[in-house]
Amino acid sequence: MGINHLTIQEQHGLLKKKEIKPSQLVSECVKAYEESKDLNAYLEFFEDAKDRAAQLDGQQPQDHPLWAIPGAIKDNIAMKDRKMTCASKILENFVSPYNATVIKRLQNAEFINLGRLNHDEFAIGASGFYSAFGPTLNPLDRQRFPGGSSSGSAVAVAAGLASFALGTDTGGSCRLPASYCGVYGFKPTYGTIPRDGVAEYAPSLDTVGILARCPLDIDYVYQQISGKDIMDESSRDPQEYFCSCDEEVSLKGLKVAVFRRLLERCHPAVQQAFQQAYDVLKSEGAEFKDVELDVEDILLNTYYVTACSEASSSLSRYDGARYGMCLDAQGKTIERLYAQTRTSGFGHEVQRRILLGNFFLAEQNYQQWYAKALSIRQHLADRSEQLAKEGFCTYLLPGFNEAQKIDASEEDTYSSDLVGVFANLMGVPALALPLSSGRHGLPVSFQLSGARGSDRRVLGIGQQLYLRLKKS
Ligand code: GLN
Repeated sequence: MGINHLTIQEQHGLLKKKEIKPSQLVSECVKAYEESKDLNAYLEFFEDAKDRAAQLDGQQPQDHPLWAIPGAIKDNIAMKDRKMTCASKILENFVSPYNATVIKRLQNAEFINLGRLNHDEFAIGASGFYSAFGPTLNPLDRQRFPGGSSSGSAVAVAAGLASFALGTDTGGSCRLPASYCGVYGFKPTYGTIPRDGVAEYAPSLDTVGILARCPLDIDYVYQQISGKDIMDESSRDPQEYFCSCDEEVSLKGLKVAVFRRLLERCHPAVQQAFQQAYDVLKSEGAEFKDVELDVEDILLNTYYVTACSEASSSLSRYDGARYGMCLDAQGKTIERLYAQTRTSGFGHEVQRRILLGNFFLAEQNYQQWYAKALSIRQHLADRSEQLAKEGFCTYLLPGFNEAQKIDASEEDTYSSDLVGVFANLMGVPALALPLSSGRHGLPVSFQLSGARGSDRRVLGIGQQLYLRLKKS
């Protein structure tokens, strides 16, 4: 495998020692991209990436681990003077006038931006097949879903088309595709990575996530892009949380909470992957506690009520008058303009979510649905806080089963969300770590999670497990 498949840590080492040049690294990604265009991971590969690399060739390598590292960005994150389509026809020709905060922060580290990545329209979906610009394929098996919604992000990292990628994660959208494609996917504590310039899906659940080839690589990116931003009211420094744990953590004596009833609902292959991680942690001296939440069987409902309700509100701005596509409304009413633009601009899954959301938010339904979902989320947050007080700041969670065949039923793709939505509903960080234990030799994952603010600790424990599991 070429240098484009190494970890950022390894690539950085070679760049620093001047054993490779930035343009060599980028050329390898370009070559891999040319050879695997059928994967449809990129909506746009930036031709000027090569020029940027050539500029950096002439400079002294910097100590920052992201210096000259090629990364790529999900196309619902704004990049100045570039298109931002959200993989939707309604924004097909929209060009962003500014950079998202995360992009500015990555640019400060002088990463090389390779392009805009494909995903499910407006980050809605779990398959990678709901993009208006064609499905993304799974490089491990083209007959299976790559997972979504951040499909291009996972595929780019898995196929050597970028060293890391940004995605978004509202209910598992970084972790599920990462797992399906055999790479690492992370969602941060809600708010620790700013969302200014990131298209909203369900703003109380939305996070910017990171995909890479090991937890340490994710941590490099996390350190660069996290932290309070005056442009985002919901953003926080991780230290602001009651449990802002140290990332230098020993597995010996580590207190780990296990949500057994969540695990019981999972496929045996997922339970097996969980057990593998459990055994390693146990052999290293971790202590476990089984925790019941009393809401395990309604997590998915809680998520879908919240996400659809908020989506119906977030997506109301794409109306033909303000952004993007506008179908000619001459002689027609404004209502007709809205209806025509939105009917042809949005795909079928997005429309379904909007309709459901409008139903949940209707005056007569609000208390029964949205308000109830909010109270369940409060219950989860309280439980998490209570666990932290008892010293349980780390959680071991089940992960995702192997990638589904592309003829799987819609019901199956919805049910794959169960283990993803947990961390978003609780507002906590979560990392999916793939193991190659599936029946068909495809990855099955487990997840590490923890109290709000414990992002770097989760990544630190993740890296230790990654190193141990790699050896075994
Ligand atoms: N699959 C989930 C959904 O469609 C999660 C999506 C996401 O995390 N963006 O809502």
